[in-house]
Amino acid sequence: MKKPTRLLPCALSTCEGICCSDGAYLRPEEERRIHRLVKRHAEHFDHLPPDYIIEPGPDDPPGRKTQVRAHRYRNKPAHFSDTRCVFTEADGRCSLQTLAVAKGKHKWAYKPAGCWLFPLISDDRGKLVPPPRHKRDDPHREGHAYPGFVTYTPCGGHAPEGKLWWHALKEEVAYFKIWQYED
Ligand code: SF4
Repeated sequence: MKKPTRLLPCALSTCEGICCSDGAYLRPEEERRIHRLVKRHAEHFDHLPPDYIIEPGPDDPPGRKTQVRAHRYRNKPAHFSDTRCVFTEADGRCSLQTLAVAKGKHKWAYKPAGCWLFPLISDDRGKLVPPPRHKRDDPHREGHAYPGFVTYTPCGGHAPEGKLWWHALKEEVAYFKIWQYED
């Protein structure tokens, strides 16, 4: 049996929100909800550019995603972009999450699923898939120039001293079960 991945907890002060460096791909209903929120809470989102959701470039996967802006990280893998999702606030927090908390909602109620699930992904059958234990198995690996994404992030790379992934991400796993029925 394959040994499971062990993970460290999310720590925004050290990871600098690197998982937000490429922005987020959105489901149609997530894009509609974000447009509604931005319209309704314009003051909360006054840091957004007009084109806060875009079509990705020709070399990117298809779909609609959040726009990014230039950002210099103190520490990042060399192949990661010097960019950050436009929904981040100055301290790296997600403005969709800060709005949900301010409104007394669940902290992930307004966030794209791909964001709060990270570093998990949900496969085509709705099954949760943890990040692989080895960088060579990274699902975003494209070769030498781009060896991967999730396994290069502080919360998604295998850490021998970390917790088994289903313990480290128990909040995400529990919320996923609720979200699946709500969606
Ligand atoms: S929507 Fe929020 S969590 Fe997702 S990439 Fe943007 S800032 Fe990060």
